[in-house]
Amino acid sequence: MKTIGYAAQAADTPLAPFAFERRALRPNDVAIEILYCGVCHTDIHMARNDWGWSIYPIVPGHEIIGRVIEVGSEVTRFKPSDAVAVGCMVDSCQHCDQCRKGEEQLCREGMTLTYAGRDRITQDITYGGYSKHVVVRQEFVLSVPDGLDLARAAPLLCAGITTYSPLRTWGVGPGSRVGVIGLGGLGHMAVKLASGLGAHVTVMSRTSDKEADALALGADRLLVSTDKDAMAKAESSFDLMIDTVPVRHDITPYMPLLDIDGTLVIVGHLGTLDEPSTAPLLLGRRRVAGSPIGGIAQTQELLDFCARKNILPDCDAAEQTKKVGLKGADDTAKQARLAG
Ligand SMILES: [Zn+2]
Ligand SMILES: [Zn+2]
Repeated sequence: MKTIGYAAQAADTPLAPFAFERRALRPNDVAIEILYCGVCHTDIHMARNDWGWSIYPIVPGHEIIGRVIEVGSEVTRFKPSDAVAVGCMVDSCQHCDQCRKGEEQLCREGMTLTYAGRDRITQDITYGGYSKHVVVRQEFVLSVPDGLDLARAAPLLCAGITTYSPLRTWGVGPGSRVGVIGLGGLGHMAVKLASGLGAHVTVMSRTSDKEADALALGADRLLVSTDKDAMAKAESSFDLMIDTVPVRHDITPYMPLLDIDGTLVIVGHLGTLDEPSTAPLLLGRRRVAGSPIGGIAQTQELLDFCARKNILPDCDAAEQTKKVGLKGADDTAKQARLAG
Protein backbone atom coordinates (compact mmCIF):
# COMPACT_ATOMS: atom_id res chain seq x y z
CA MET A 1 0.00 0.00 0.00
CA LYS A 2 1.39 3.37 -1.01
CA THR A 3 1.27 5.99 1.72
CA ILE A 4 2.89 9.22 2.83
CA GLY A 5 4.33 10.58 6.02
CA TYR A 6 6.97 12.83 7.51
CA ALA A 7 10.50 11.50 7.87
CA ALA A 8 13.88 12.69 9.04
CA GLN A 9 16.58 11.33 6.71
CA ALA A 10 19.39 11.93 9.21
CA ALA A 11 19.95 13.20 12.75
CA ASP A 12 20.56 16.75 11.56
CA THR A 13 17.79 17.11 8.96
CA PRO A 14 14.24 18.26 9.76
CA LEU A 15 11.12 16.21 9.12
CA ALA A 16 10.05 16.38 5.47
CA PRO A 17 7.32 14.71 3.36
CA PHE A 18 8.19 11.08 2.62
CA ALA A 19 6.40 8.65 0.30
CA PHE A 20 6.72 4.97 1.18
CA GLU A 21 4.97 1.58 1.11
CA ARG A 22 3.14 -0.19 3.91
CA ARG A 23 3.40 -3.97 3.67
CA ALA A 24 0.70 -6.10 2.01
CA LEU A 25 -1.57 -7.55 4.70
CA ARG A 26 -0.43 -10.75 6.35
CA PRO A 27 -3.26 -13.02 7.56
CA ASN A 28 -3.24 -11.48 11.08
CA ASP A 29 -2.65 -7.85 10.02
CA VAL A 30 -4.89 -4.84 10.43
CA ALA A 31 -4.59 -1.86 8.05
CA ILE A 32 -5.38 1.44 9.75
CA GLU A 33 -6.02 4.93 8.44
CA ILE A 34 -4.37 7.23 10.96
CA LEU A 35 -6.58 10.06 12.21
CA TYR A 36 -4.42 11.47 15.03
CA CYS A 37 -0.93 10.97 16.36
CA GLY A 38 0.54 12.49 19.49
CA VAL A 39 3.91 14.20 19.51
CA CYS A 40 6.01 12.54 22.22
CA HIS A 41 9.30 13.87 23.56
CA THR A 42 10.83 10.55 22.49
CA ASP A 43 10.04 11.46 18.88
CA ILE A 44 12.42 14.39 19.17
CA HIS A 45 15.15 12.33 20.86
CA MET A 46 14.83 9.63 18.22
CA ALA A 47 14.73 11.97 15.21
CA ARG A 48 17.98 13.51 16.53
CA ASN A 49 19.54 10.17 17.49
CA ASP A 50 20.09 11.37 21.07
CA TRP A 51 20.26 7.79 22.35
CA GLY A 52 22.41 6.43 19.52
CA TRP A 53 20.05 3.70 18.26
CA SER A 54 17.98 5.56 15.64
CA ILE A 55 17.86 4.14 12.11
CA TYR A 56 16.99 6.28 9.12
CA PRO A 57 14.84 7.31 7.46
CA ILE A 58 12.83 7.73 10.63
CA VAL A 59 9.06 8.35 10.63
CA PRO A 60 8.31 9.11 14.28
CA GLY A 61 4.98 8.76 16.08
CA HIS A 62 3.88 6.10 18.56
CA GLU A 63 0.62 7.50 19.91
CA ILE A 64 -1.66 6.49 17.08
CA ILE A 65 -5.45 6.74 16.81
CA GLY A 66 -7.20 5.62 13.64
CA ARG A 67 -9.86 3.57 11.92
CA VAL A 68 -9.55 0.08 10.49
CA ILE A 69 -9.79 0.08 6.70
CA GLU A 70 -8.95 -3.57 5.95
CA VAL A 71 -8.16 -6.77 7.83
CA GLY A 72 -6.22 -9.93 6.98
CA SER A 73 -7.95 -13.29 6.47
CA GLU A 74 -7.32 -14.52 10.02
CA VAL A 75 -8.19 -11.34 11.92
CA THR A 76 -11.04 -11.98 14.32
CA ARG A 77 -10.91 -9.04 16.71
CA PHE A 78 -11.33 -6.11 14.32
CA LYS A 79 -13.39 -5.12 11.29
CA PRO A 80 -13.35 -2.12 8.94
CA SER A 81 -14.45 1.18 10.54
CA ASP A 82 -13.53 0.11 14.10
CA ALA A 83 -11.82 2.89 16.09
CA VAL A 84 -8.40 1.57 17.09
CA ALA A 85 -5.10 2.63 18.62
CA VAL A 86 -1.44 1.64 18.36
CA GLY A 87 1.21 2.53 20.91
CA CYS A 88 4.98 2.23 21.20
CA MET A 89 5.36 -1.38 20.04
CA VAL A 90 4.03 -3.36 17.08
CA ASP A 91 5.40 -6.85 17.73
CA SER A 92 7.28 -9.10 20.14
CA CYS A 93 8.34 -12.76 20.20
CA GLN A 94 4.95 -13.84 21.66
CA HIS A 95 6.41 -16.95 23.31
CA CYS A 96 8.82 -15.91 26.08
CA ASP A 97 7.75 -15.80 29.73
CA GLN A 98 7.17 -12.03 29.63
CA CYS A 99 5.11 -12.08 26.43
CA ARG A 100 3.03 -14.95 27.81
CA LYS A 101 2.10 -12.97 30.87
CA GLY A 102 1.21 -9.91 28.83
CA GLU A 103 4.39 -7.91 29.45
CA GLU A 104 5.37 -7.61 25.80
CA GLN A 105 7.30 -4.42 26.55
CA LEU A 106 9.73 -6.62 28.50
CA CYS A 107 10.00 -9.33 25.81
CA ARG A 108 13.20 -11.33 26.26
CA GLU A 109 13.95 -10.94 22.54
CA GLY A 110 13.10 -7.24 22.58
CA MET A 111 9.85 -5.62 21.55
CA THR A 112 9.57 -4.30 18.00
CA LEU A 113 9.31 -0.53 18.21
CA THR A 114 6.55 1.19 16.26
CA TYR A 115 9.22 3.21 14.50
CA ALA A 116 12.98 2.84 14.11
CA GLY A 117 12.55 -0.87 14.79
CA ARG A 118 12.99 -3.84 12.47
CA ASP A 119 10.11 -5.97 11.23
CA ARG A 120 10.62 -9.45 12.69
CA ILE A 121 9.97 -11.17 9.35
CA THR A 122 11.44 -8.88 6.67
CA GLN A 123 13.90 -6.81 8.76
CA ASP A 124 12.45 -3.69 7.10
CA ILE A 125 12.57 -0.49 9.17
CA THR A 126 9.30 0.19 10.97
CA TYR A 127 7.71 3.58 10.34
CA GLY A 128 5.50 5.33 12.87
CA GLY A 129 2.39 7.42 13.08
CA TYR A 130 3.41 10.66 11.39
CA SER A 131 1.87 9.09 8.34
CA LYS A 132 -1.45 8.38 6.68
CA HIS A 133 -1.63 4.60 7.17
CA VAL A 134 -0.10 1.88 9.29
CA VAL A 135 -0.27 -1.94 9.15
CA VAL A 136 0.01 -3.78 12.47
CA ARG A 137 -0.59 -7.38 13.57
CA GLN A 138 -3.85 -7.62 15.49
CA GLU A 139 -2.20 -8.61 18.79
CA PHE A 140 -0.75 -5.08 18.98
CA VAL A 141 -3.89 -3.19 17.97
CA LEU A 142 -6.04 -1.75 20.76
CA SER A 143 -9.75 -1.01 20.73
CA VAL A 144 -10.76 2.56 21.42
CA PRO A 145 -13.85 2.30 23.61
CA ASP A 146 -16.99 4.27 22.77
CA GLY A 147 -17.01 7.63 24.47
CA LEU A 148 -13.26 8.24 24.35
CA ASP A 149 -12.63 11.42 22.33
CA LEU A 150 -10.55 10.33 19.33
CA ALA A 151 -9.00 13.80 18.95
CA ARG A 152 -7.61 13.72 22.48
CA ALA A 153 -6.89 10.08 23.26
CA ALA A 154 -3.58 9.61 21.40
CA PRO A 155 -1.17 10.53 24.23
CA LEU A 156 -2.70 7.79 26.39
CA LEU A 157 -0.75 5.33 24.22
CA CYS A 158 2.60 6.52 25.57
CA ALA A 159 2.40 9.19 28.29
CA GLY A 160 -0.75 7.53 29.63
CA ILE A 161 0.48 3.94 29.86
CA THR A 162 3.93 5.07 31.04
CA THR A 163 2.37 6.60 34.14
CA TYR A 164 -0.53 4.15 34.58
CA SER A 165 1.67 1.06 34.58
CA PRO A 166 3.72 1.95 37.69
CA LEU A 167 0.56 3.04 39.50
CA ARG A 168 -0.82 -0.48 38.89
CA THR A 169 2.49 -2.27 39.53
CA TRP A 170 2.74 -0.66 42.96
CA GLY A 171 -0.93 -1.21 43.76
CA VAL A 172 -2.14 2.39 43.94
CA GLY A 173 -5.77 2.72 44.98
CA PRO A 174 -8.00 4.62 47.39
CA GLY A 175 -5.88 5.95 50.26
CA SER A 176 -2.52 5.59 48.50
CA ARG A 177 -0.24 8.59 48.94
CA VAL A 178 1.28 9.42 45.56
CA GLY A 179 3.80 12.14 44.72
CA VAL A 180 4.29 13.29 41.14
CA ILE A 181 7.61 15.00 40.42
CA GLY A 182 7.29 17.40 37.49
CA LEU A 183 4.10 18.55 35.80
CA GLY A 184 4.55 18.26 32.03
CA GLY A 185 3.17 15.70 29.57
CA LEU A 186 3.89 12.64 31.75
CA GLY A 187 3.26 14.46 35.03
CA HIS A 188 -0.19 15.73 34.15
CA MET A 189 -1.23 12.22 33.13
CA ALA A 190 0.18 10.78 36.36
CA VAL A 191 -1.92 13.26 38.35
CA LYS A 192 -5.14 12.49 36.47
CA LEU A 193 -4.65 8.72 36.61
CA ALA A 194 -3.54 8.52 40.25
CA SER A 195 -6.41 10.75 41.22
CA GLY A 196 -8.78 8.61 39.12
CA LEU A 197 -7.57 5.54 41.03
CA GLY A 198 -8.54 7.26 44.28
CA ALA A 199 -5.08 8.22 45.54
CA HIS A 200 -4.16 11.33 47.51
CA VAL A 201 -1.94 13.14 44.99
CA THR A 202 0.79 15.70 45.61
CA VAL A 203 2.60 17.44 42.77
CA MET A 204 6.22 18.39 43.45
CA SER A 205 7.54 21.36 41.57
CA ARG A 206 10.42 23.80 42.00
CA THR A 207 8.09 26.80 42.34
CA SER A 208 4.42 27.30 43.16
CA ASP A 209 3.73 28.56 39.61
CA LYS A 210 1.88 25.40 38.63
CA GLU A 211 -0.28 25.14 41.77
CA ALA A 212 -3.55 26.15 40.10
CA ASP A 213 -2.87 23.77 37.20
CA ALA A 214 -2.03 20.92 39.57
CA LEU A 215 -5.23 21.37 41.55
CA ALA A 216 -7.32 21.70 38.39
CA LEU A 217 -5.87 18.41 37.11
CA GLY A 218 -7.02 16.66 40.29
CA ALA A 219 -4.03 16.93 42.63
CA ASP A 220 -4.77 17.52 46.32
CA ARG A 221 -1.83 19.86 46.78
CA LEU A 222 1.46 21.15 45.39
CA LEU A 223 4.68 20.83 47.34
CA VAL A 224 7.46 23.28 46.43
CA SER A 225 10.61 21.15 46.28
CA THR A 226 12.91 24.13 46.91
CA ASP A 227 11.08 24.95 50.19
CA LYS A 228 13.22 23.16 52.79
CA ASP A 229 10.68 23.46 55.62
CA ALA A 230 7.83 22.12 53.52
CA MET A 231 10.04 19.25 52.32
CA ALA A 232 11.07 18.41 55.90
CA LYS A 233 7.43 18.35 56.98
CA ALA A 234 6.59 15.95 54.15
CA GLU A 235 9.15 13.36 55.30
CA SER A 236 7.99 9.70 55.23
CA SER A 237 4.60 10.65 53.82
CA PHE A 238 4.50 8.94 50.40
CA ASP A 239 3.96 5.34 49.30
CA LEU A 240 4.97 6.01 45.71
CA MET A 241 6.58 8.81 43.79
CA ILE A 242 6.43 9.02 40.00
CA ASP A 243 9.48 10.93 38.80
CA THR A 244 8.70 12.42 35.38
CA VAL A 245 11.63 14.85 35.14
CA PRO A 246 13.02 14.45 31.58
CA VAL A 247 16.62 15.51 32.24
CA ARG A 248 19.50 14.57 34.52
CA HIS A 249 18.62 15.57 38.11
CA ASP A 250 19.21 14.79 41.78
CA ILE A 251 16.74 12.39 43.42
CA THR A 252 18.34 12.66 46.87
CA PRO A 253 16.02 15.43 48.19
CA TYR A 254 12.96 13.32 47.35
CA MET A 255 14.04 10.05 48.93
CA PRO A 256 13.33 10.96 52.59
CA LEU A 257 9.77 11.85 51.55
CA LEU A 258 9.03 8.17 50.90
CA ASP A 259 7.60 6.16 53.77
CA ILE A 260 9.31 2.90 54.76
CA ASP A 261 9.27 0.51 51.78
CA GLY A 262 8.18 3.38 49.55
CA THR A 263 9.32 3.51 45.93
CA LEU A 264 10.42 6.30 43.62
CA VAL A 265 9.81 5.24 40.00
CA ILE A 266 11.72 6.96 37.23
CA VAL A 267 9.72 7.21 34.01
CA GLY A 268 10.92 10.42 32.37
CA HIS A 269 14.67 10.28 31.94
CA LEU A 270 16.84 7.75 30.14
CA GLY A 271 20.47 8.29 31.08
CA THR A 272 22.58 9.11 34.10
CA LEU A 273 21.44 10.84 37.31
CA ASP A 274 23.32 12.98 39.76
CA GLU A 275 24.96 10.68 42.30
CA PRO A 276 22.33 9.86 44.95
CA SER A 277 22.98 9.36 48.66
CA THR A 278 22.20 5.82 49.76
CA ALA A 279 21.43 6.89 53.34
CA PRO A 280 17.66 7.38 52.91
CA LEU A 281 17.51 4.16 50.87
CA LEU A 282 19.11 1.99 53.53
CA LEU A 283 17.62 3.64 56.57
CA GLY A 284 14.04 3.60 55.33
CA ARG A 285 14.24 0.43 53.19
CA ARG A 286 13.24 2.73 50.34
CA ARG A 287 13.57 1.84 46.68
CA VAL A 288 14.37 3.46 43.36
CA ALA A 289 12.85 1.80 40.32
CA GLY A 290 12.22 2.42 36.63
CA SER A 291 9.31 1.49 34.40
CA PRO A 292 8.82 1.42 30.61
CA ILE A 293 5.29 1.79 29.07
CA GLY A 294 3.13 -1.29 29.82
CA GLY A 295 1.84 -4.47 28.18
CA ILE A 296 -0.92 -4.62 25.59
CA ALA A 297 -3.54 -5.97 28.02
CA GLN A 298 -2.73 -3.22 30.52
CA THR A 299 -2.85 -0.57 27.79
CA GLN A 300 -6.34 -1.79 26.88
CA GLU A 301 -7.25 -1.68 30.58
CA LEU A 302 -6.03 1.94 30.64
CA LEU A 303 -8.12 2.95 27.61
CA ASP A 304 -11.21 1.31 29.15
CA PHE A 305 -10.48 2.97 32.53
CA CYS A 306 -10.09 6.40 30.90
CA ALA A 307 -13.33 5.98 28.94
CA ARG A 308 -15.17 4.98 32.12
CA LYS A 309 -13.71 7.84 34.17
CA ASN A 310 -13.61 10.38 31.33
CA ILE A 311 -9.87 10.93 31.78
CA LEU A 312 -8.14 12.50 28.79
CA PRO A 313 -4.81 14.21 28.21
CA ASP A 314 -4.87 17.99 27.94
CA CYS A 315 -4.45 18.38 24.23
CA ASP A 316 -5.11 21.16 21.78
CA ALA A 317 -5.37 19.05 18.62
CA ALA A 318 -8.94 19.94 17.69
CA GLU A 319 -8.48 23.67 18.30
CA GLN A 320 -5.13 23.82 16.51
CA THR A 321 -6.51 21.96 13.52
CA LYS A 322 -9.34 24.45 13.23
CA LYS A 323 -7.06 27.42 13.76
CA VAL A 324 -4.56 26.56 11.07
CA GLY A 325 -7.25 25.30 8.71
CA LEU A 326 -5.86 21.81 8.18
CA LYS A 327 -8.13 19.19 6.73
CA GLY A 328 -7.84 15.63 5.54
CA ALA A 329 -5.59 12.85 6.67
CA ASP A 330 -2.77 14.09 4.42
CA ASP A 331 -2.06 16.56 7.14
CA THR A 332 -2.21 14.03 9.95
CA ALA A 333 1.25 14.79 11.23
CA LYS A 334 0.49 18.48 11.34
CA GLN A 335 -2.71 17.78 13.23
CA ALA A 336 -0.79 15.97 15.90
CA ARG A 337 -0.30 18.78 18.29
CA LEU A 338 -0.16 17.94 21.94
CA ALA A 339 0.11 20.30 24.83
CA GLY A 340 3.06 19.40 27.03
ZN1 LIG B 1 6.40 8.26 23.70
ZN1 LIG C 1 8.78 -12.24 24.15
